[in-house]
Amino acid sequence: MTGSNWDFRLPTAVHFGWDRLSTLPDMISNLGGRHVFAMIGRSFLNRVGEAGLKQLVGSADLTIFTDIEENPSIGTVDTAAARCRESGADIIVAIGGGSVLDAAKCVALLQKNEGSIREYLYRERKPAGRGLPLIAVPTTAGTGSEVTPFAVVTDREKNAKPAIAYPEAFPDHAIVDPALTLSMPTAVAVSTSLDAMTQALEGFWSTRANDMTRAMAFRAIVLIFRNIEAACLDKDRDAIEKVTLGSVIGGTQMAMIGNTALHPLSYPLTLDYDLRHGLACAIYVPAFLRFNKAELGPWFDDLLTVLGFGTVEEFALAFEAKMEKLGAPTRLSTLGVTREAIPDIVRNGVGRSTDFNPRKLTPETMVEILETML
Ligand code: NAD
Repeated sequence: MTGSNWDFRLPTAVHFGWDRLSTLPDMISNLGGRHVFAMIGRSFLNRVGEAGLKQLVGSADLTIFTDIEENPSIGTVDTAAARCRESGADIIVAIGGGSVLDAAKCVALLQKNEGSIREYLYRERKPAGRGLPLIAVPTTAGTGSEVTPFAVVTDREKNAKPAIAYPEAFPDHAIVDPALTLSMPTAVAVSTSLDAMTQALEGFWSTRANDMTRAMAFRAIVLIFRNIEAACLDKDRDAIEKVTLGSVIGGTQMAMIGNTALHPLSYPLTLDYDLRHGLACAIYVPAFLRFNKAELGPWFDDLLTVLGFGTVEEFALAFEAKMEKLGAPTRLSTLGVTREAIPDIVRNGVGRSTDFNPRKLTPETMVEILETML
């Protein structure tokens, strides 16, 4: 007997596999879509062109919105929401990285719920219901945003990255097609795969994890850990497929239980040190593996066995070596972080999910952990 109690419900229908993007026109028409508001990453639009995009949405009318920056801002989301309303669209298709998908989830919600996304980010309002139907198509592997109820939006005034987390924000469909990630430049591939691996690790050790989510996190970690170099550096198609699979499986468990301390700690590194999201998450992994060591439990022993490590320290060293091989930073000092700046990073890097770290954290212990990373 495990005595565990858990609930698991993924409202998003997931469609995985090579060239599954070709199913988009049928999906749009099955959802009754007659006018598509397409939120599209610029790199994807450059590849397929407007004519190619028109073909992808079949017979539906099309309005295209591409002005979505990395780590999209409140202003961008509100502007896109207004454009969507003006267009009269009845369905949203988002094709891009996590930034595009997160913006689209907010825009979909705002079509049936009044106000600025700011009010929802700061819990001043709650959605009264779902927004427009949304089909999410990731071109990175990745954030898992296509299967989560979360959307992270940058508040430039407060220099913060608050997130919505509402069941109403789950996309209706996710098309996860490894072919779409082939064009990622190495730096983007490295950062997004490390994000996926960090999310899976956080899910695996989270105090909120249950047997179902741990099983998914376990598989995601193994798939990504074994294939990340071949996927990012050699562009090996089999490895790319496995990392993409790891990303969506890891995203699914994250949809149920969220993150722990690493994701909120990443935000100050992105906002103040201009470090890509995935790199800003993964840089903390070795230090937190060491800090959490005594609380990782029997599941973690199984993971170490499958990955071929005898101890947590061996895993931490291998993780660091992998990051170095991938060209990812492993020391805070290389980003320009000084000892004096660490208390600020900790102050700005505590979020709702920090409490779910397996070993209790205080601001003092977090400062000590970060000092070991200088
Ligand atoms: P991104 O969407 O910011 O994209 C990074 C860069 O890669 C952009 O310049 C983009 O144009 C380019 N790009 C994307 N796909 C490409 C492709 N196939 N070929 C060439 N270029 C491509 O990166 P991301 O890491 O996917 O998303 C990061 C955002 O997602 C952050 O804002 C982060 O906070 C958020 N996030 C959300 C969740 C969630 O559950 N909603 C989870 C983790 C992170």
